[in-house]
Amino acid sequence: MHAEVIAIGDELTSGQRLDTNSQWLSERLGELGLRTLYHSTVGDDLAANVRVFREAIDRSDIIVCTGGLGPTADDLTRQAIADTIGVELVLDEDSLARIRAMFARRKREMPERNVIQAMFPTGSRPIPNPHGTAPGIDRRVERVGRTACRLFALPGVPAEMREMWEQTVSPAVQEMTGGRRVIRHHQIKCFGVGESDLEQMLPDIIARGRQPSVGITVHKATITLRITAEAENEAACFESMQPTIATIRDCLGSLIFGQENDELQHTVADMLNTRSQSLATIEWGSGGLLADWLSEVDHTSHVFAGGIVVRNHEALAATLRETGYGRGAADQATVVRIMASHVRDQFATDYALALGAFPSSDTVDTEAGELHFALATPTTVLTKSVPFTGHPDILKERAVKQALNFLRLTLLE
Ligand code: ATP
Ligand code: MG
Repeated sequence: MHAEVIAIGDELTSGQRLDTNSQWLSERLGELGLRTLYHSTVGDDLAANVRVFREAIDRSDIIVCTGGLGPTADDLTRQAIADTIGVELVLDEDSLARIRAMFARRKREMPERNVIQAMFPTGSRPIPNPHGTAPGIDRRVERVGRTACRLFALPGVPAEMREMWEQTVSPAVQEMTGGRRVIRHHQIKCFGVGESDLEQMLPDIIARGRQPSVGITVHKATITLRITAEAENEAACFESMQPTIATIRDCLGSLIFGQENDELQHTVADMLNTRSQSLATIEWGSGGLLADWLSEVDHTSHVFAGGIVVRNHEALAATLRETGYGRGAADQATVVRIMASHVRDQFATDYALALGAFPSSDTVDTEAGELHFALATPTTVLTKSVPFTGHPDILKERAVKQALNFLRLTLLE
């Protein structure tokens, strides 16, 4: 049994408004153990709506649609449902009385137009709407030689839609699924290789139809493996994921830095905290992002002592004056070394992490296309360089992640 969510409205298909209802509904359906296989978005056009409903009824067992239940001429959902299944719209006196009462409470006369909101495709059950005028529609649609499809139509207004889902639709869906199965996810976070390289390191667990399933997504160079299991309850879901998680851990080793919502800065801060060690930073190209991320995760401020941000040679020369920097020409690898060890001294921390100039932002002392990092440790200063290429949107965040990952891998050794 799987679900389909349909969002209706010209404001959605024209790009004026983002369809958040479908996202919300899919999450709720997922929590009830239902996989949503299709999202459809359709404008305010009767023929187009009928097409979408026809297809949805054919391919999905549970349909939840939102929008188009209002009283105006562009609200076509009830008519589209009636046309799709080939029945008439009939007046529901109870619903009409409720709509009239709603207007009376607001001390307004009900416009004749609103009668349409009490019209339902024959054989429907109205879904009460405690805080709006338009009731929803709950209709079983028979399918030849198969189980029936269940179609729920809710208003587009997100607050009304959510309330009606919680009060009426969710219990109805749970009754259909027997409340037996749930879906749970587990995320494994990786950093340090490209998406396709990482995929090649895994046996074919990304295969379609596998149980539990494994999906792979990349966001600003962080790769997330999302494991999804379906079972009778939450414990059984996590139990069934264990062999898959073990395989992934075996294959990827130290490429994995965390799970669920972990970011590299959480992992690094936790590692340092466990060892009661401290860190300072100095950054050039990243403009303070490294310090910002570390500040955000280190609530105790015992781990991250602080950092220096420089934006040009003069500022760096002033910062490093005591070290003799600037008297002779130095390559970037040497510069970041001096940066790291100087800051470690100044802040009296166990570690200091230096992130060099971005090649494009300053080419005077920079080897073309290489970004340099240095890590001053209690015993030595380590350096690392990486190619600085890629889409401008990700360069800064990736550079900071590379710096944090350099520290993480050093701490692991
Ligand atoms: P109404 O009785 O208010 O007309 P309706 O069922 O006809 O209800 P729409 O007219 O389609 O709903 O939308 C009402 C409001 O809800 C609009 O502000 C619309 O932008 C918003 N809305 C509709 N669909 C969605 C959606 N999928 N995601 C987020 N907002 C939505
Ligand atoms: Mg409307």
